[in-house]
Parts: sequence; structure tokens; C-alpha cells
Amino acid sequence: MTTKQSLQALNDTVIANGYCVGCGACAVPDQSPFKIVMDDYGQYQSSLKDANVFATTQNDYEKLCPFGSGTPNEDEIAKQHFSETCDHNNQVGYYNGVFAGHVAEGDFRNQGSSGGMGTWVLNELLSKGLVDYVVHVKSETAAQGLHNIPFKYQVSETLEEIQQGGKSRYYPIELSEVLKTVRNNPGRYAVVGLPCFIKSIRLLQAQDPILAERIQYCVGLVCGHLKSAHYAQSLAWQMGIAPQELEGVDFRIKDRSQPANRYSTYAKGSTGEKVVPTNQLFGADWGAGAFKYKACDFCDDVFAETADVVLGDAWLPEYVQDSYGTNVVVTRNQNIRQLIVNARTEGRLEMDDLGVAKAVQSQDAGLRHRKIAIGYRIHREQMTKAWVPTKRTGPINTLSPRYEMKRQRLRTKLRLLSHESFLKAKRKSELLTYINTVQPVYARYSRQGRSFFHRLISFLKRRLIISAR
Ligand SMILES: Cc1cc2nc3c(=O)[nH]c(=O)nc-3n(C[C@H](O)[C@H](O)[C@H](O)COP(=O)(O)OP(=O)(O)OC[C@H]3O[C@@H](n4cnc5c(N)ncnc54)[C@H](O)[C@@H]3O)c2cc1C
Repeated sequence: MTTKQSLQALNDTVIANGYCVGCGACAVPDQSPFKIVMDDYGQYQSSLKDANVFATTQNDYEKLCPFGSGTPNEDEIAKQHFSETCDHNNQVGYYNGVFAGHVAEGDFRNQGSSGGMGTWVLNELLSKGLVDYVVHVKSETAAQGLHNIPFKYQVSETLEEIQQGGKSRYYPIELSEVLKTVRNNPGRYAVVGLPCFIKSIRLLQAQDPILAERIQYCVGLVCGHLKSAHYAQSLAWQMGIAPQELEGVDFRIKDRSQPANRYSTYAKGSTGEKVVPTNQLFGADWGAGAFKYKACDFCDDVFAETADVVLGDAWLPEYVQDSYGTNVVVTRNQNIRQLIVNARTEGRLEMDDLGVAKAVQSQDAGLRHRKIAIGYRIHREQMTKAWVPTKRTGPINTLSPRYEMKRQRLRTKLRLLSHESFLKAKRKSELLTYINTVQPVYARYSRQGRSFFHRLISFLKRRLIISAR
């Protein structure tokens, strides 16, 4: 396939059918015909500038895209990197170490979303001389201690700069700008990213010897899905900060009186700031998937299987009660495993050996959605005769228990409705346009799988609340 055919194919399949996750990989090659733009729904998307204006590099654009046809899948990429030194599990991918714990030194845990390991690993790679630069996501005003939007991929080269990048950004980000910087500045880099972004980096490395040489470590984040910018706006609007006034957001404020999964959201507007427990905000139920990119429903990688190490939240009963946050950590690279083991011996990390079964348990819901129910979503897309990316799981026309199929259909509906209705809400300057559209579907979704007894109790509770008013 010629370069021109490959870029046209990428445009006609992934992009035309809404599977672009906006990672930016296709816009990285010199004089790429693609550019990354923020669409009306608050999602980064690739856009073909002009199929005839491309030249210097002979790239296979389809094979740069994590959802492109003919790209190697996560198993195939990971096998090249890790198969000789790691064991393999079909949920977690390759592993040579599985841990749960947190950073005991410095302020990493306090400034992180979870146990602080994300920032710690990047910092340790830098301070032990294994890399010269770190590529991570932070606010452009992070140096002033602000969580202002937009969040962007940036290059850091000191501990102080790295620490400013702590916290999870449930917000659109893209790699093309920062990877151009990497290409123009020699050195050894570590890059942090969501599973599909790390896959993109591996695909870019296969076509770009400079990126292959310079990006020495890929640090993955466990991923449920990526959100559009409207997710942040929808939460802030419920706190009284309208979308056009929103200046900053922190999605993971730890609440010392609550378990780790009961965190709060901070939002700052032109007129003030607020912190509200996230579970009191409509649309924040992660499982329901409001404001999710469509691509995320067609991704089967939870544990960033192509990354050298992956960090997530240890959502396990034995850790979740600790409001300060605990990481689940899966290592695949021997150097990173050794950094963790050494720091544990030195008392700088508190890390338990977890075992792969527990790591799987910590992401139970995400894995079921991504690795099993994806087959049903593929089946439903194929029924429409539309193009669907090839995944490791094939189409399946049934799920067990039966209500799971309805839950999947409602999740898809919630995703679509959240995007459409929030755009209308913004245009009308009326938050209720969004909430009143999505709420009835969310109520049906929440009822799925609950026993008659549970539903009766909820019904009676609602009646009691109404009569008490
Ligand atoms: C969109 C998204 C979905 C997630 N889904 C899950 C999930 O379902 N289950 C789960 O257990 N964990 C999930 N995580 C990971 C989790 O939220 C924490 O990021 C992780 O546990 C690391 O926390 P920490 O305290 O160790 O890291 P921190 O010290 O807080 O460091 C986090 C690092 O990640 C970088 N970063 C933040 N946001 C992004 C981003 N969007 N893209 C790339 N890099 C980023 C930061 O710059 C920083 O370097 C998700 C994260 C994101 C961004």
C-alpha cells in the first residue's frame, strides 16, 4: 500500500466511523496530512488536511493508528518486548512483578491520585540517570500550583517539574505536539500514557527510528476510558460554574474521612472555587460511561499491555479503605522492577507482592466491559454493516447473564446521549437540557441486574423521600 493509499484508508475507516481517540500519532510524521482538532463535543479528533499535501516521510498511516487495520495487536507488540523475561496472563498481559502499595517518601502520595507511584516512577527513572526527560500531562500553569485547563502533554526535566504533573486528568490530551519536540531534541525520554496512547508510541517507534531510540521507557496507566472535555464542564456546571467560566479542575481530591474510591472533584471558575464529593455529581458513575470516546468501547486493553510498567488504583477491599490511595503496579521491564524492589528494601516504598489474580480482581468491572462485553458491542456494530476495528475478541451475539446485553445497549445510549445533549445544553445555556435527557436512561441502566427486592426497597425509599418533602 502506498503512503497515499494508507492515509486515505485511515481516513475512510477509523476517522470516518468515529473510532479516532485523538492520540495524535498520525499527525506526528513530518508534513503529515493529518492535524488534531478539538471537535464540538470536546474530543480531540484527527482531521485530514489535504490528502495531496504529504511528502517527506513514507509512512503507513493506517499502521500508526491504535485502531487502524492491519496494525499488530497488543499481544503481538508486547510479545516483542517482554516475552523473554515475563509470564503472561490474558487479562493483565505480560508481567515480571505485580505489587500493591504506595510511595512512603516525599509528597508523592499526597500529590498523586492514588498511591503516587505514577510520578514516583518517572522521577526515579530521571534521578537514577535512566532518562534525561519525562513526557507527562499537566496544566500549562502547573508551575504556579494550578490545575487550570487545558491539560497538555509536556516535557519535564527536574523533580519539581515532574511533581507538578501528578494527578489523573480525565480530559482529552494528544501526543503530536510533544512528540515533535522529542524528535527535535536529542535525549532519552520516558513517556506516560493511557493504553491506546502507549500502543500508538510503539507503532510510531516501528516507523520512526528517532522515536525508537529516544523513547526508552513507556509508563502506562490502567484505563477505564477517556473522557471528552465536556465531562469536566458537566461536573463544574453542577457546582455552579458554567462551561465558559471554567478555569481549572482536579478530578481526584482525596477525602480523608472516606475510602479511596469516594474522592471529590475540585472546580475553579472566574468567580470562585468549589469541592464536591464526585458521587454527588450526575454523570460521574464511571461504569455508565458518560462522555466516553467511542473508541474506548472498542479497546480491549485495560492494563496498558504494551507499556514497561502500568499503574492503577488497587480497588480491592483490603486497600480501598485507606483514603490516601493505593496503587496496583504491574512491571514488565526488569530495570523498573528492580527500582521498585530496591526502593522497597530502602523503605522508600510500601509495597506488597500482590499476585496476578488480585491485580485482575482490582479491575474486575473494567476487564469484563473491555475484554468480554466488547464482543457484543462489535457484534452490534457489525449488524449495521459499518466498518469496525479488528480486536483480539471476535463478535459475540449473547452475554450472560441476559441483562448484561441490555446494560451494554444502555451504556452505548448513555455515551451517545451525553455527547449530544450536553452540546445542546451549552448552546441553550441550560444545564437541565443535558440532565433531563440523560437521567431517565441512567435510571433504567442503574436498575439492570438488581433483584426485585432491591428495586422494591429503592422504590419505597424514593416514596418516603417524596412524602417527607
Ligand atoms: C482517563 C483515565 C482513566 C483511568 N481509568 C482507570 C481505571 O479504570 N482504573 C484504575 O485503576 N485506574 C485508572 N486510571 C489511573 C488512575 O486514575 C491513576 O492515574 C493511577 O492510579 C496513577 O495514580 P498515581 O497516584 O500513582 O499517579 P500520579 O502521581 O497522580 O501521576 C499520574 C501520572 O499520570 C499522568 N497523567 C495524568 N492524566 C493523564 C492522561 N490523561 N494521559 C496520560 N498521562 C496522564 C500525570 O502527568 C502523572 O505523570 C485512569 C487514569 C486516566 C487518566
